[in-house]
Amino acid sequence: MNAAALEAPLLIVISAPSGAGKTTLCHRLLKEMPQVHYSVSCTTRPPRAGETDGESYHFMDTVAFERQVAAGAFLEHAVVFGHHYGTLKETVRAGLEQGRDVLMDIDVQGAAQIRDYVRDAPEGDLIKDAFVDIFIAPPSIDELRARLLHRGKDSEEVILRRVATARAELQRMDEYRYLVVNDDLEVSYDALRSIVVAEHHRLRVPREEAAYAR
Ligand code: 5GP
Repeated sequence: MNAAALEAPLLIVISAPSGAGKTTLCHRLLKEMPQVHYSVSCTTRPPRAGETDGESYHFMDTVAFERQVAAGAFLEHAVVFGHHYGTLKETVRAGLEQGRDVLMDIDVQGAAQIRDYVRDAPEGDLIKDAFVDIFIAPPSIDELRARLLHRGKDSEEVILRRVATARAELQRMDEYRYLVVNDDLEVSYDALRSIVVAEHHRLRVPREEAAYAR
């Protein structure tokens, strides 16, 4: 058996349009799979009620954010709904080096940047070896609109913008290795969990180097 493959940590990158159910699915994964740790992003968006600095996000102003960009501190960063968001390299590396699975909830632009990094990184790079990307989609745009209306968090104008962004994001789902269409939460969670379990069993080193062959 290839114990090394089972023990190697994963970098689980999840993207979804808002209203697809990503937050609920990610929270459940974090609760039920204790080896999975959430990568806390940096953002210039102001905190919402109930959000804690350092837990939900590292909240910072644009000057501080741009300083981190100039220092090359971000693994990826993007502007989403008019605010800057980014993941610090250090957050991801520290998690993976401790042998933990790291869960990133980021948009399609950020996921594409990590994919570029992975493509160009040398064999043996921690992030390259750990990377797995999953897109969570709503069953349809109509269903997405209905969910956004039902949750009552956004104005009509914001909902229109979210739906337009969702259409653009859905166009990019085929850049991802896995797709989960979230119609039924239980079925979708089961799929998400299964992907994580299966990825832990994927042979990531050449077969002749696998532990069982020695
Ligand atoms: P919210 O402000 O509602 O928490 O998040 C808005 C969007 O920003 C979501 O689609 C979320 O996935 C994305 N996002 C959160 N953190 C990051 C990040 O570090 N990088 C990128 N590229 N997107 C992020």
